[in-house]
Amino acid sequence: MFALDPFTVLFTTTLTCVVLAAAMVSVHLSFRREVAGVGHWACGLAAMVGAGALFLLRGKLPDAIALPAANACLMWGIGLSMIGTRRFFGEAGGWGIFHAAWLLELAAVLYWLLVEPNFPHRAAAFSFIVSVFYIDQLRLVWRHRVPHFTSWFFGALLALQGVNTLTRGMAALFMESDAADLLRRSALANVYLAIANFMALLLTVAFLMLATRKLQQILEQRSTHDPLTGVLNRRGFLEFFGSVRARRQRSDAPLSLMAIDLDHFKAINDRYGHAHGDKVLVQVAAVIQRSARQCDYVARFGGEEFVVLLPDTTLAHAQQLAQRIQSLLRASQQAGVPPCTVSIGIAGQHVPGESLDSLLARADHALYRAKANGRNRTEIAGPTPLAA
Ligand code: GH3
Ligand code: MG
Ligand code: MG
Repeated sequence: MFALDPFTVLFTTTLTCVVLAAAMVSVHLSFRREVAGVGHWACGLAAMVGAGALFLLRGKLPDAIALPAANACLMWGIGLSMIGTRRFFGEAGGWGIFHAAWLLELAAVLYWLLVEPNFPHRAAAFSFIVSVFYIDQLRLVWRHRVPHFTSWFFGALLALQGVNTLTRGMAALFMESDAADLLRRSALANVYLAIANFMALLLTVAFLMLATRKLQQILEQRSTHDPLTGVLNRRGFLEFFGSVRARRQRSDAPLSLMAIDLDHFKAINDRYGHAHGDKVLVQVAAVIQRSARQCDYVARFGGEEFVVLLPDTTLAHAQQLAQRIQSLLRASQQAGVPPCTVSIGIAGQHVPGESLDSLLARADHALYRAKANGRNRTEIAGPTPLAA
């Protein structure tokens, strides 16, 4: 079995934690609004650096001071990463477990160091208490699991670390007493030491991978969605239109496109103010989305104009949807949101492969007629493409 010099391992781990803490601080400062929990992880790593330094100072400081302080720091460090993981997954709380754990650990260390010195009991107490932090995070990862490598990776590491600490606790209690003593070079102690220290690095990297993935999803969402209403923006719509078109290459299924424009919206802004105008836009977007099916694509194309792509939808069905939008808008007037109506133009794809520009131009033409004919109504575009 390989042997490790515990002090060298501790020293390199402490240095690694310094670097990881710096990386976490940098991520936290850049993306604190997008990704929660990174700040707690950064503080946790800083506490682990403190713990490492105190362990390294053993011999220079009396054990009665160095050991309880180092254990408390280590508990804070791992506990803070648990709080960070909770925040990351949008869960509040956790401070009860955090404080109970480190106070209990402090009491255990003080008792089995000063009152009734017993290293195996100290090691067992630490291992069992700290495993609570890992098990709690494992529960979170399981509850918020997604079918992605980062989720499985972080979960597997937490499970491994949980098993590792529980095994060490058991070993300390039931096997020969020095099996869990990190300063003696027994095989089990070496395995524990190697895994535990490597885990500080791996778990942090795994959490950073989760954070990076979340960030990537947020940025993707931002680049394809309208921040005010949450529906697709023009770019997102074009992307989806491209994929719908590719899927329909050899299909002659119907396709309809709807252009929706708020009536006299400028007057609403002028009368109630821009903020109330924004509320109207949000409400109209919600009504359109509620009326549409999951497979339809709702987008905000300009200021107060929405476009809905309706795959596998005939003009007759599109017209029914338009009526539903208009009546739902009448029925769902909320307190504090000025009333408004919409005009709608619908174009059906008559020529297979008709371009989006042509469809949009025809739907807009129909919309223009709806406006000219008195607004708050729907018009259907003629079958002739307006542009190539
Ligand atoms: P019509 O019935 O002919 O469509 O008249 P309209 O007043 O709705 O159309 P017009 O194009 O004259 O005015 C559109 C207004 O939409 C003007 C602009 O200030 C407002 N607008 C555009 N984007 C936003 C936005 O994001 N928020 C708010 N509150 N208003 C916006
Ligand atoms: Mg308008
Ligand atoms: Mg307009």
